[in-house]
Amino acid sequence: MSVRYISTRGQVEPLSFSQAVMMGLATDGGLLLPDSIPQISSAQLSRWAALSFTDLAVEVIRLFATEADLPTADLRAICQRSFARFGRPEVTPLVHVGGRRILELFHGPTLAFKDVALQLLGNLFEYFLARDGGSLTILGATSGDTGSAAIHGVRGRSGIHIFILHPHQRVSPIQERQMTTVMDANVHNVAIQGSFDDGQRIVKDLFNDLDFRKAYQLGAINSINWARILAQAVYYFYAWGQLSAGNPQRRVSFAVPTGNFGDIFAGYLAFRMGLPVERLILATNRNDILTRFFQSGLYGAGQVVPTLSPSMDIQRASNFERYLYYLLDEDAAQVGRLMAELEQRGQIAVPEVKRQLAATLFTACAVSEVETLAQIRTFYQATGYLLDPHTAVGFKAADSFPDAICLATAHPAKFGAAVAEAIGHEPALPPELLGLMERPSRCAVLAADTAVVKQHMIDTLA
Ligand SMILES: *Cc1c(COP(=O)(O)O)cnc(C)c1O
Repeated sequence: MSVRYISTRGQVEPLSFSQAVMMGLATDGGLLLPDSIPQISSAQLSRWAALSFTDLAVEVIRLFATEADLPTADLRAICQRSFARFGRPEVTPLVHVGGRRILELFHGPTLAFKDVALQLLGNLFEYFLARDGGSLTILGATSGDTGSAAIHGVRGRSGIHIFILHPHQRVSPIQERQMTTVMDANVHNVAIQGSFDDGQRIVKDLFNDLDFRKAYQLGAINSINWARILAQAVYYFYAWGQLSAGNPQRRVSFAVPTGNFGDIFAGYLAFRMGLPVERLILATNRNDILTRFFQSGLYGAGQVVPTLSPSMDIQRASNFERYLYYLLDEDAAQVGRLMAELEQRGQIAVPEVKRQLAATLFTACAVSEVETLAQIRTFYQATGYLLDPHTAVGFKAADSFPDAICLATAHPAKFGAAVAEAIGHEPALPPELLGLMERPSRCAVLAADTAVVKQHMIDTLA
């Protein structure tokens, strides 16, 4: 059996893994998915429990590509390179603190979980470009975390340029410096004199400029890329292995702070592959479109409000369509109709039986700002361990599931101001961030105008 990639909206000819990774967003506007989900036997699960993170990543990912498309020996080299850049040999250590279980996903170069996937994606891009020829110009807008993780994933790689737009003086100083102090020749930071939404609009305009898109081989790095989901599924297996010692009867729950439904969809994928998951606890902040869906069956965007966990300030979860596809029995025509309806009316509904089916696995919870701060404070006072505000949202949502593995998605020092609000002082800076503010930096400041950004890209790449 070999996996091919299809679109949630059914209008894409089946693709290989490498084609799916290079395409990113499906050309019919949907999201790419494998045409079948590989199944893991109990015996295999038990064996996996003994593997290192890197060896496990090879085992998981190779099931989703053919040997001809991505030879295992090459995949192994790619995984070794990708995860060697993490500060811990376990890559994603599972720690036990104050009777709780925390899966630390923030030991990569930019101290947020997005490094796990973007380090791998950078290496995959470079490998496929070197093999198949061509070049790639990655273009993205960021409100903070994604931009720096993407830049660190592709810095210095041949065949790849990256342009990241961030809103001028509207990202945290640490986030800004994590991007602009990367001096590799292929990294191009642009501060837009406008908002994050302006940046997103410019990116969208340039992707819709089909001549430009083709001439410069524009590529995207947001969480719609299948390779990102796959890389993240690995740590669900890894955490289970640490806790279960390979006993396939052992079921575990995961608490996941969520914005785009990316990280938690990776958990759903692991579950569908056969990982014994008890519950997936989906945690949102006040931007609660996903929580409302799991509680009511209605999916409709509200206004985005800024919170202490800004990487989850999202009211349209880009990966949700993948889950919808499975919930609706892989009926691509129905998914296509619903997404068109969402576009027109701003809201869709699934039948109550489907909502009930979803509720057999997912427990959703929205966490307020007051609760987030209180969670950081009480856990710090009780244990001396600092949660970042995103992790705290997931932690709080798991109140009634004390055995759950809580995914820690960022290092607390990345969100020092929020932590200081909770405990009265900023967290100590980890070595990666020391001296960051003094390093040389490079960034173009441009008007929030598509034509200006386009000309800047043309001049830069000339
Ligand atoms: C991006 C991000 C999230 C949300 O992840 P999704 O995949 O969008 O659900 C949570 N926490 C942190 C720190 C993030 O950077």
